[in-house]
Amino acid sequence: MAINWTEAEIEAVVASVIKSIRNDTVADGADFDSKSYSGRRFIGVFDDMNDAIEAATLGYKAVRAMSLADREKLIAVIRTLTRDEAPIMAALGVAETKMGRVDHKTAKHILVADKTPGTEDIVAAVKTGDLGMTLTEMAPFGVVGSITPSTNPSETVICNSIGMIAAGNGVVFNPHPNAIATSNYAVDLVNRASAIVGGPEILVASVAKPTLDTADIMYKHPAIRLLVCTGGPGVVRAVLSSGKKAIGAGAGNPPVIVDDTADIRKAGKDIIDGATFDNNLPCIAEKEVFAFANIKDELIAAMKENGAYLIDKATADRLAEVVLVDKKNPKTGAVSKIVNRDCVGRDARVILEKIGIKVGSDIRCVICEVEFEHPFVQHELMMPILPIVSVNGIDKAIDLACKAEHGNRHTAHMHSKNIDNLTRFARAVETTIFVKNAPSYAGIGFGGEGHTTFTIAGPTGEGLTSARSFTRYRRCVLAESFRII
Ligand code: NAD
Repeated sequence: MAINWTEAEIEAVVASVIKSIRNDTVADGADFDSKSYSGRRFIGVFDDMNDAIEAATLGYKAVRAMSLADREKLIAVIRTLTRDEAPIMAALGVAETKMGRVDHKTAKHILVADKTPGTEDIVAAVKTGDLGMTLTEMAPFGVVGSITPSTNPSETVICNSIGMIAAGNGVVFNPHPNAIATSNYAVDLVNRASAIVGGPEILVASVAKPTLDTADIMYKHPAIRLLVCTGGPGVVRAVLSSGKKAIGAGAGNPPVIVDDTADIRKAGKDIIDGATFDNNLPCIAEKEVFAFANIKDELIAAMKENGAYLIDKATADRLAEVVLVDKKNPKTGAVSKIVNRDCVGRDARVILEKIGIKVGSDIRCVICEVEFEHPFVQHELMMPILPIVSVNGIDKAIDLACKAEHGNRHTAHMHSKNIDNLTRFARAVETTIFVKNAPSYAGIGFGGEGHTTFTIAGPTGEGLTSARSFTRYRRCVLAESFRII
């Protein structure tokens, strides 16, 4: 396929597409439709997963036929549409999932548009010697089956689409049912970008009603060569047991250590900024703090200056009764606590209201001093509640922080100027991301160096995924030739 449009022509078409939807607003309580938005029917959304896979297979063939330059033009339009429609997707995501914040979700989409690597991420390696030359290239897998979460729904669809297409793959999505309208908006956006550059009508596909059964079809379908799953422990286990090559991006429970060499005022602000980003939905966000006892009060004061509301231990226990609920194991009858979905990603003000505490909208985080065993420390809450555990010394801090991370090896943070302490914690916790002296989001390229992703694959080892994560290595050997020295 050849695409001969100039940048100016592409910009002009994009501008007209944007204009047609510019005035849309997301009505509160709107009926969320997985097949259309504001009267515009989504492209690439099917009732049957088998049909979606078939369409994605044709999309894959079209991507394979594109030159790298054409793939880049297509990705450039995805970036432009994402930037321009970020506020719509952010508002739709918050309205549909009732989680997160529109301003932060808008920023997350712009981050995806700006910092998700494209085709430049795909590089070949060459080995030359007496026996000639061997070339190793990063080749596409084929059609990728992607399972996406409710916490960053459209961000993940777009980020994965850019990386997977850059690598030459096709993609079919099984998005989270609670975020299906938002996720399918993003699927449609990618397909609109394809139309703008003269690509296939359906480049990426999805289903109108994703279920565990549609995911199962994906696991078993012979056309699906790679599964990429972003979500909690249940779904990561499911894809890893599928018998197919799988990339699993699972749960975290990121601890933060603050020692007595840190810039405490800055640490307090950074931690609250990170922990409240999109109301604590990102899997990398600060979930519990281990503060040296001799600086703990100063840290709490700095947090309060930055929008934190301190509750006492008895109030924290009362709040725990609301944000955690009982779940009975159907097989064993055993009852355990799970996070109350009604509280996930909600504003701090709304969460406090549930126990009769009224605060202003300047309050963005609830903080409390608790012991290590408290459920706020142990559970991945994904809401702006931050427990603080007082520790005496670095040994105790590292020991408890590693335990609170539960071996997820996902993300950890530390505020310190002591290089030995920083190094010891990083070595002990073994996380994919380790952020020093910054808010957590610096770890995904927001105010920190490096590319962004919303699929952080700790369990399967790809780390912060990018186009190259969705490739397989292929070797070409040219014997006795092509060496020029
Ligand atoms: P979730 O686990 O509820 O859902 C994720 C996806 O899996 C959804 O599409 C869901 O419908 C599907 N699903 C769930 N169980 C399944 C099964 N057995 N088979 C097939 N599909 C199944 O996750 P969520 O609530 O949307 O997201 C929050 C969780 O995801 C948190 O634990 C968070 O840490 C994690 N997460 C991780 C990353 C990462 O990059 N590592 C990114 C975002 C979210």
